[in-house]
Amino acid sequence: MMQTIDHIGIAVRDLEQSMELYGRLFGVTTFHRERVEDQHVDIASFTVGTVRIELTAPTSPTSPIAVFLEKRGEGIHHVAVRTDDIPGELHRLADDGVRLIDETPRPGAHNMMIAFLHPKSTGGVLLELCSPKD
Ligand code: ZN
Repeated sequence: MMQTIDHIGIAVRDLEQSMELYGRLFGVTTFHRERVEDQHVDIASFTVGTVRIELTAPTSPTSPIAVFLEKRGEGIHHVAVRTDDIPGELHRLADDGVRLIDETPRPGAHNMMIAFLHPKSTGGVLLELCSPKD
């Protein structure tokens, strides 16, 4: 079951500069910092109400975020929906003809498993399913 919007991923070039900007915009002084090796990204995140904002910068030119920045520039990269059953949702969506980027969940930030759906199947919005690791 889809439960709630978990976080919004924002692609940024420079994490320090972006923390300064978003810190000012949202009145935030504390960020959670994390490197996700699997995706070659560094993350700085904070929460607004129940939604987490994840500033995401590439750590290598082959990172999907680096590719995104090259094509589209900085901005909203993806919206993440929390679910209690990623494999079940992937199965349901694939059966419905939705193109998947990840056929099986992989590790993400915040001790979550994640899987992306293809934006060609989601009206141009990159959607991520996420679920806390057991
Ligand atoms: Zn995410």
